[in-house]
Amino acid sequence: MAQADPAPASLHDIAEWVQLCRRCDLWRGATQGVAGEGPADAPLMLVGEQPGDQEDLAGRPFVGPAGVMLERAMQEAEVDRSRLYLTNAVKHFKHELRGKRRLHKTPAGGEVRACRWWLDGERRLVRPRVILALGATAAGAVIGRPTPIMKSRGQPIQLADQSQAMVTMHPSYLLRMPDETAKAEGFRMLVEDLRGAAKLAGL
Ligand code: SF4
Repeated sequence: MAQADPAPASLHDIAEWVQLCRRCDLWRGATQGVAGEGPADAPLMLVGEQPGDQEDLAGRPFVGPAGVMLERAMQEAEVDRSRLYLTNAVKHFKHELRGKRRLHKTPAGGEVRACRWWLDGERRLVRPRVILALGATAAGAVIGRPTPIMKSRGQPIQLADQSQAMVTMHPSYLLRMPDETAKAEGFRMLVEDLRGAAKLAGL
């Protein structure tokens, strides 16, 4: 897929066409592209950074350990996952090999910008009232500028397409925290932010 390609007309197009995408080089090391998942009229869209190891293999977003934590946070916040559209800023898994393990690597700015073609397509088709960006990469992709998570969480940000963005921490960031007290506090904030975004979206 190149710059002159037609805009996708459905979420089905996106799921199929990301498999052919060559807008950046991340497709080379990945098993498959992972598009978003959820109802086409979801009032709330959650955007993460990129698929992880398990998402890359399964071809579905948020099915690995971060997805399990997100699911737990959604249950605690009483937010129904089936009403949400879940996706990532970048659709292929960026990683480096360490022995047999594939370790996550943060996508570069150019890769995030290249992949906005797909995220913008999902936004245009789903037209969510609210987008909750999980982590700094997603926040930058959704809002279009660097947005510090801790300073900005809890405050809706008006977007040009009339939707509103909110930001929170990515669950994988919480998973990496060595301190259990900080992790519990981070989880509490994630739950609070999910609840706030769902309320703003009318859920
Ligand atoms: S990461 Fe995004 S822009 Fe890069 S090849 Fe995959 S779908 Fe295309």
